[in-house]
Amino acid sequence: MELDRNEVEQYALDHWADFQDYLKHPSISAQNKGIQETSDWLVATFKELGAAKSTKWEDQGGNPVVFAEFKGNSDYTVLFYNHYDVQPPEPLDEWHSDPFEPTEKNGKLVARGVCDDKGELMARLGVVKYFNEHGGLPVNLKFFVEGEEETGSRHVGLYVNAHQEELQADACIWEGGGKNSADHFEVVAGVRGIVSFDVHDKTADADIHSSLASYVPNAAWRLMDGLESLRDPHTGRITVKGFYDDIESLTPNEKAAVDEMDFDEESVKETYGLKQPLVTDHPREELVNGTTLTVNGLSSGYEGEGVKTIVPKEASAKLDCRLAPNQDPQKVMKLLQQQLAANGFSDFDVHLNVAEDAWRTPMEDPFVQQALATAKNVYGPMTKFVPNTAGGGPVRPFGETLHLPVVMVGIHYAKSGPHAPNEHIRLNDYAQGSYYLADFLQQLGTNK
Ligand SMILES: [Zn+2]
Repeated sequence: MELDRNEVEQYALDHWADFQDYLKHPSISAQNKGIQETSDWLVATFKELGAAKSTKWEDQGGNPVVFAEFKGNSDYTVLFYNHYDVQPPEPLDEWHSDPFEPTEKNGKLVARGVCDDKGELMARLGVVKYFNEHGGLPVNLKFFVEGEEETGSRHVGLYVNAHQEELQADACIWEGGGKNSADHFEVVAGVRGIVSFDVHDKTADADIHSSLASYVPNAAWRLMDGLESLRDPHTGRITVKGFYDDIESLTPNEKAAVDEMDFDEESVKETYGLKQPLVTDHPREELVNGTTLTVNGLSSGYEGEGVKTIVPKEASAKLDCRLAPNQDPQKVMKLLQQQLAANGFSDFDVHLNVAEDAWRTPMEDPFVQQALATAKNVYGPMTKFVPNTAGGGPVRPFGETLHLPVVMVGIHYAKSGPHAPNEHIRLNDYAQGSYYLADFLQQLGTNK
């Protein structure tokens, strides 16, 4: 069956409101609000759409995962990843409409979570509905919709591991993705990892009169000395032994795609009001396949008004590393700890906060190639390939445990404002994204 683009796009626009209750449920994982109601709504909606199976998994703890399965006209199976939780809507006075009352205005649809990522799941449901009325699904579909992505996806690995059998598929379509700041559609095939941690040092039992700085050690200086010992001040390179060792080079095709990625240095400088030059001459490659050591915050001693002449007894810093595929978060933290000790700072206390693995599907994978070919067809030749995003997500269990190629092909655009007030999508992107998905599934069903 040949898909009619106008018809599919119009169908998406005519039917998004069928699923608008999804946006009305304030499913805020950080505040433990609306989790049961929203997951119930999903289970019921999947059933109404004819799912062969629609259920909640709660056996691994945390917020329930909603799992649904649809039978299609071929043997090929696509697994979707989404999350039904959203960020808190605050600050409320910056919203022009009720965050949990979907509002259409100037071709845009405004609501908390409409970009990240309820609108995207709605588009997917709309495509299921379209195929139900037009000859059936071209492939089998499975949906894995978790409820704690916005608070760190702590149980995803456990659920994937425990339900490998039910989650078997040929490929996985992730959340996120869409159009970049140049309004070019991007096909993305992975995420970076992250490890974040606190470093703390203590040099005395109490703050000391600063006149005694003549002979007592200072925790603030000591912390700064320790952190500085990890980095070459001239090049910015991290001098931790082994820090860069596990990074794998991009393939020649990936390298070429990275060179083609949109990056506008001037607009970056303007957007953030940068007062200093960029820290690299290769921002594209660094974003995709580089690693960082970032000081997120520092604190020590007296930071209030006026004067307080003390030698602080302790100092602490929050740090994170964004990690390239194949770097292990725990190992990276361990290397840092060992280097601190080797540099004479073994008294520093290092505490892990968050660790999440990176993951990248090779560009040469046939599923990735199909995603890209269909995208070029639908969105035009300026479509970009991005080997992995600069940010993260719990992709690795899907890639590694389930052995699935993963792509991100979504419906948002650069100004959608996920996590911010007035989060929105453009309905035109919603329509295009729906057609893209329908066409992509059709291709996958035909090629099998
Ligand atoms: Zn998201």
